[in-house]
Amino acid sequence: DHVHGEPLPRRADVGGLSPALPPGGEREARRRVTAYWRSGLDDYERTHDDLAGDATSRLSAHLHFGTLSPVELVHRARRRGGPGADAFVRQLAWRDFHRQVLAARPAAAHADYRTRHDHWRPERAARADIAAWREGRTGYPVVDAAMRQLRHEGWMHNRARLLTASFLTKTLYVDWRVGAAHFLHWLVDGDISNNQLNWQWTAGTGTDSRPNRVLNPVTQGRRYDPDGAYVRRWVPELADVDGRRVHEPWKLPGPERAALDYPDPVVGLSEGLARFRRARGRPH
Ligand SMILES: Cc1cc2nc3c(=O)[nH]c(=O)nc-3n(C[C@H](O)[C@H](O)[C@H](O)COP(=O)(O)OP(=O)(O)OC[C@H]3O[C@@H](n4cnc5c(N)ncnc54)[C@H](O)[C@@H]3O)c2cc1C
Repeated sequence: DHVHGEPLPRRADVGGLSPALPPGGEREARRRVTAYWRSGLDDYERTHDDLAGDATSRLSAHLHFGTLSPVELVHRARRRGGPGADAFVRQLAWRDFHRQVLAARPAAAHADYRTRHDHWRPERAARADIAAWREGRTGYPVVDAAMRQLRHEGWMHNRARLLTASFLTKTLYVDWRVGAAHFLHWLVDGDISNNQLNWQWTAGTGTDSRPNRVLNPVTQGRRYDPDGAYVRRWVPELADVDGRRVHEPWKLPGPERAALDYPDPVVGLSEGLARFRRARGRPH
């Protein structure tokens, strides 16, 4: 009797949010599914890794908050059929997979699923590198673009999540829990099973059958952002560097490099790789 409801806070009154959060609610979820089914789904298999194309469904926040049912999505995709719909269903299955792993092993939310006996760099020693990663100023353009998108939109493309997580845990050799906490803070779709277990997968402490693979941010950038458009969208300091040259600003001719207000890499890739291999007991 004495419980009184209060109006939901308005978005504008809540501080510390990403400025470009997507709209929520069931109506918006349905609108998005209809639009994606009209133009997107059939090409999903071909386009889902294209960073600049931004051609995935962006339904993750609705699946997280329950404004959309994954079962309904699977039924609709099966009815549609074809390689795009099939690939979409396979990707949705990862969501269930991570949920099942967490249900079987709840400690995986905070402890290694499969230990690799890591002695991660102490946070104090890695503080400057962690800050550069969080703020998108590592000196690796595709990493920086992705980390800035995360803050601005509260969302990041799956390929970008993979390469930024690999960069933190392997190239910088920082504990996956540090990165997972940052993602959970900013992601609008952030949830324990998908986030923690994808982080563990990328760090090699989870279910990846190749736990020591390291994603090279330059190669990833060239492959998944071949023209550099994604980097130029999010890193305005590099907006005038054309084509794929944007992925390696340190290779630009002296005067062009000097004119850029953009940092040098926080660590050399071969140095980072050697540190990681030593740590995992595989020096070669
Ligand atoms: C380090 C890291 C952290 C992540 N954290 C989260 C998280 O907190 N919450 C979250 O929902 N996803 C997370 N993902 C998975 C994936 O990146 C996002 O689900 C996807 O980018 C969301 O965009 P979308 O809806 O356009 O995906 P689409 O490509 O359109 O995929 C459709 C749906 O399938 C599911 N899905 C796709 N890929 C994965 C995957 N690898 N694992 C689990 N489910 C997947 C999602 O529900 C997604 O909405 C993470 C991935 C990595 C590598």
